Amino acid sequence: MAVHIPGKTRCPLCAQLALREEPLANFPPIFGNQLDPAFAVNDAVVHRHCLAERPYGQRALAKLESYQQHQGRPKVCKVCGLAITNPDDYFTLGPISDYPDEPLARFDWFQAHLHCLRDWDGTPGLVSAIEAVSRSAEWEGDVLERLLERIRRA
Ligand SMILES: [Zn+2]
Ligand SMILES: [Zn+2]
Repeated sequence: MAVHIPGKTRCPLCAQLALREEPLANFPPIFGNQLDPAFAVNDAVVHRHCLAERPYGQRALAKLESYQQHQGRPKVCKVCGLAITNPDDYFTLGPISDYPDEPLARFDWFQAHLHCLRDWDGTPGLVSAIEAVSRSAEWEGDVLERLLERIRRA
């Protein structure tokens, strides 16, 4: 979650202070694509009324909701079906897609043991799908590259 410091934190959409008594939305760093207009609220505390004025407001809130719903839920490996308890052996893409109809959307909330990705026959397909998006002209940022690096090191 973005850190909200009352009297100091400013809403990136209007540049005014985000006050505790105002309706606010607190976004964790869940937007990776710097070309997505919603990237403006990544890792930020924003006024809900400012968000409501943006074309991406609803979409950004839906992504936040999806993130919150997954918080604290048991993590289960997509490869072996067992629980994931060791954070060092945990790989997730989180809410990676920005739009429900984009290619990345099928990987939303993909999670697995890192050690399971080593021998999984789905790993090459996962890697090439992420690489394709990462290289596309519509995507900019280092999030996907960092995720690929984690898989390669596994
Ligand atoms: Zn604002
Ligand atoms: Zn596993």
